[in-house]
Amino acid sequence: MERRSNRNLTIAISYFCAMHQDATISADKRYCISLTSYERFETREVTIGTLHMGGDNPVRIQSMTTTDTMDTEGTVAQSIRMIDAGCELVRITAPSKKDAENLEPIKKALAEKGYTTPLVADIHFTPNAAEIAAKIVEKVRVNPGNYADKKKFEHIEYNDETYQAELDRIRERFTPLVEICKEHGTAMRIGTNHGSLSDRILSRYGDTPLGMVESAMEFLHICRDLDFHNIVLSMKASNTQVMVQAYRLLVNRMMQEGMNYPLHLGVTEAGEGEDGRIKSAVGIGTLLEDGLGDTIRVSLTEEPEFEIPVAEALANRYKTRAGHDPIPELNSYPIDPFAYQRRATRQTLNIGDHEVPRIIHDFSHQDEIKPANFHAVGYNYSVPLDKWNLSDQACDFVYIGSKDLDFEIPGTLGIIQDAEHWSNKDRHYPLFESISYVVAEKKSDKLNFVKTDLNGLDIALMAAIKNDPTAVLVLTTENAHGVAEQRAAFFRLIEEGIDIPVIVQRSYHDLDENTLQLYASTDMGALLIDGLGDGIWIDAVNCGSKKMINSLSFGILQATRTRISKTEYIACPSCGRTLFDLLETTAKIRARTSHLKGVKIGIMGCIVNGPGEMADADYGYVGTGVGKITLYKEKEVVKRNVPEAEAVDELIALIDQHGDWIEPAVAGV
Ligand code: SF4
Repeated sequence: MERRSNRNLTIAISYFCAMHQDATISADKRYCISLTSYERFETREVTIGTLHMGGDNPVRIQSMTTTDTMDTEGTVAQSIRMIDAGCELVRITAPSKKDAENLEPIKKALAEKGYTTPLVADIHFTPNAAEIAAKIVEKVRVNPGNYADKKKFEHIEYNDETYQAELDRIRERFTPLVEICKEHGTAMRIGTNHGSLSDRILSRYGDTPLGMVESAMEFLHICRDLDFHNIVLSMKASNTQVMVQAYRLLVNRMMQEGMNYPLHLGVTEAGEGEDGRIKSAVGIGTLLEDGLGDTIRVSLTEEPEFEIPVAEALANRYKTRAGHDPIPELNSYPIDPFAYQRRATRQTLNIGDHEVPRIIHDFSHQDEIKPANFHAVGYNYSVPLDKWNLSDQACDFVYIGSKDLDFEIPGTLGIIQDAEHWSNKDRHYPLFESISYVVAEKKSDKLNFVKTDLNGLDIALMAAIKNDPTAVLVLTTENAHGVAEQRAAFFRLIEEGIDIPVIVQRSYHDLDENTLQLYASTDMGALLIDGLGDGIWIDAVNCGSKKMINSLSFGILQATRTRISKTEYIACPSCGRTLFDLLETTAKIRARTSHLKGVKIGIMGCIVNGPGEMADADYGYVGTGVGKITLYKEKEVVKRNVPEAEAVDELIALIDQHGDWIEPAVAGV
């Protein structure tokens, strides 16, 4: 114990020394050690059974069971599948005292089979269950939004006195758990969720990242007053912008108060398949890029063991990140890391200003380009009608390098050619390397793409692009710490008052589809989430099909909420509280509604957390009892206890009643 506290002291000292880097960043904006040099925010080490987290330990991988906690055999079997897949921490829901007590036989059965991986009890609304679980398992997770508060969705006016009285009540209810954790060496996660903030926090701070941070701080201060520090913190949300802002604000607050507790990263209700992976990578990856995060849980609406390789791929990317090519120190930090604001740019053709971020697809690596190839990027050519049909995910530009096309292109598509091969045909635009652009005599009078990285952004280029309303920058990077380098380039443009639109380009080769999804989502998402970027260009060689890359590009824009091109599903990952088959139901709902562009549908396993967690969904499908579903229009209950067999039809009827339904045929599906 003595050794560990000395170690934590050492970490705290080195952390405060490291904080003096990036001297240009004022304390009120600081949320990481460096914005230009990869360095982990070194947290104090906590002990969870035999597992150490934080400090210089690797980023720990965890997940959560979806079985009924009273089903000992099923929970043990699922835990083993998760552990065998690489899960280092297994979370199990404990909704009641009975469930909490059943953690004991689960733990025992796992030990008998040789599995001693630490267990975490997940607690909502039931302090009694927490107090039982804390004596059995290695860690408890409490949600400060509902540990001592019942959710009534009420707005209550507090003055300082009545607010303090509430805090005193919470302290009284929470203190016994802290004392048990101290006595038993149990760790604790104070896990705030955007969707389940208490009425008290919502009344004072609103539905904001600040409210999330304050919610955790109230509980954290009680722990610190009681000299309990075996704590991990999380700030999860389904909205990736809110999630990233809340974690950053939390770190900023910890820095200001001289704390450095480990961070558990996660995007809640990320969904399934490609969408869930993209959304998780955007949120988690953005924070990892800046050295934040000590443990990851990727919440997918899939079997929990499938989450592990995704979390590992996200975390492993940073094992070799330190020692990347140097990036010049920043002169300023001209954006707000805690609030989204798109960088102000001029409009060039359909790029920049208030235009949605554009998608450029790369066809240059292909030997021959035919009309049929455009099918993969959202354009279908009808031979009998001699006409192009567009899908909701039709890309905006296609780059063809040194090639030319011998057919009529769709009316909404632009073609980009290398400047030296530019044909100057209708809707064809040249791409210049930065040096050749500065001296070029032949340019388009409408749109010229200029490719550069941070190093190429010199005085001559900046002078040339500043006053050229036809120029759009294609910003690339070769740096392993590419997000930071590209961010620094954006900052240079802002400092110099250059409002040129910027397409963010990243190149990848020889990756499998899943890895490309995670890397590109992180690399582009981390900039878009800060309002940086007027388009994206994924240049991927031998990484998967064109269709997948096109879908990935639109998925990244959807996950960063910068361009909506499809239905959004806010589906919980399910747990022991789930009251219906979430995987099957999500698939059923998706099959009927996937053409409803822009509509957000929440699919939640239980009434306890579901309504809060689906936060900003337009429609909600929530389990309320065995075989019973309650339907929501935003936060309002519209139909209670609909039999499950009729619930999907009723959901469609509800969407129709509110004018959001369109027939698939009309939508072009
Ligand atoms: S919303 Fe889903 S994951 Fe959350 S507690 Fe309910 S069933 Fe479990």
